Amino acid sequence: MAVQAPEQSSDAAAPVALGPAAALSCRECGARNPLGPVFACAECFGPLEVAYDLPGGDPEGLRKRIESGPDNIWRYAPLLPVPADVAGRPNLNPGFTRLVRADNLARELGVTGELHVKDDSGNPTHSFKDRVVAIAVEAARAFGFTTLSCSSTGNLAGAVGAAAARAGLRSCVFIPHDLEQGKVVMAAVYGGDLVGIEGTYDDVNRFCSELIGDPLGEGWGFVNVNLRPYYAEGSKTLAYEICEQLGWRLPDQIVVPIASGSQLTKIDKGLKELISLGLVEDRPYRIFGAQAEGCSPVSRAFKDGHDVVRPVKPDTIAKSLAIGNPADGPYVLDVARRTGGAVEDVTDEQVVDAITLLARTEGVFAETAGGVTVGVTRKLLQDGVLDPSLTTVVLNTGDGLKTLDAVAGSARPSATIRPSLDAFRDAGLA
Ligand SMILES: *Cc1c(COP(=O)(O)O)cnc(C)c1O
Repeated sequence: MAVQAPEQSSDAAAPVALGPAAALSCRECGARNPLGPVFACAECFGPLEVAYDLPGGDPEGLRKRIESGPDNIWRYAPLLPVPADVAGRPNLNPGFTRLVRADNLARELGVTGELHVKDDSGNPTHSFKDRVVAIAVEAARAFGFTTLSCSSTGNLAGAVGAAAARAGLRSCVFIPHDLEQGKVVMAAVYGGDLVGIEGTYDDVNRFCSELIGDPLGEGWGFVNVNLRPYYAEGSKTLAYEICEQLGWRLPDQIVVPIASGSQLTKIDKGLKELISLGLVEDRPYRIFGAQAEGCSPVSRAFKDGHDVVRPVKPDTIAKSLAIGNPADGPYVLDVARRTGGAVEDVTDEQVVDAITLLARTEGVFAETAGGVTVGVTRKLLQDGVLDPSLTTVVLNTGDGLKTLDAVAGSARPSATIRPSLDAFRDAGLA
């Protein structure tokens, strides 16, 4: 992401009360910057993240408060950068998606421990992006933005369009021009403006960074650029939910897809918070990152033992993960190495195989990103990197209905026949 001086700081605006959020701390130099629509540190231009004064000291009370909250991400409002009354405001209220105990898949993969699929296809616009956008919308409101925008690999555009419609904001979102039809339709149907850019996601992202610095983009809240520190916090709710759904227990291993890498790093942040608040027992956990071979810059750096991520030009059917220059790549490497995890990649063919494997074993139809995580899980088990005897959670972050083309070749009718018993008998399916 282009580094830009945080000149749009909210100095002039009234102080904003965003729950327990205390400051924006720099992920490079640690400097504390005031809360506001900024994404680069005033000291060193490093990326910012939300720092908190979290409600410590009474884990039992906090757990009860969470459990009595709504069945969506707002049950975790005490741990999020949002106003206290957030649950009462028009929002898509994503989250609390199902955690599927995947015994059939476990048998197929030779897993003897518990295997679970966290299925985020159940969110309002059918991907995990509703979580991050929900937080960004609240930040946009707090900072007085009236247009919501983003650069998107597809799912984010739909999530922003829907959330803006519900919140009564204007939206104008940007995507690469060659996305799957399902993603384009989902992004356009909510009535905001949708702009296809002739280029890759990285071109779209660069364009948006320029737009932010230009008078054309004034007053615009780009959820994954100038609202990124808030947006990113939405991913923590995946960690919270997984632990709560496991009975306030950490998983031993978790397999997460990587696009920009933000989700993976915030899942780690969420797990660390639960430990420090005493909501789960402090035990080791390992985080594994998953990419498609045709866009695997983080996996490459991990395997080569490098700290820097060399950008690539994406070429994969997993378009939702096709970010060739992932902003959080180096932080993903840190998390994988610190927790004893790994980053791995699979071919497009393995992605398709994994989508059909998950569908036929558990009845879960994943988009290509879910094929990436399930495929990488299988590969890491085969390579002896994942421990089959432990509790493992695999993320499915999107809905297969959005990427039908990926499996259209292999998922077809067994037969097409005349409506007669004879014809059915001849088809040999009885
Ligand atoms: C955006 C996205 C991700 C991960 O995004 P990050 O940029 O790594 O946070 C994963 N799966 C799907 C389906 C997505 O749309």
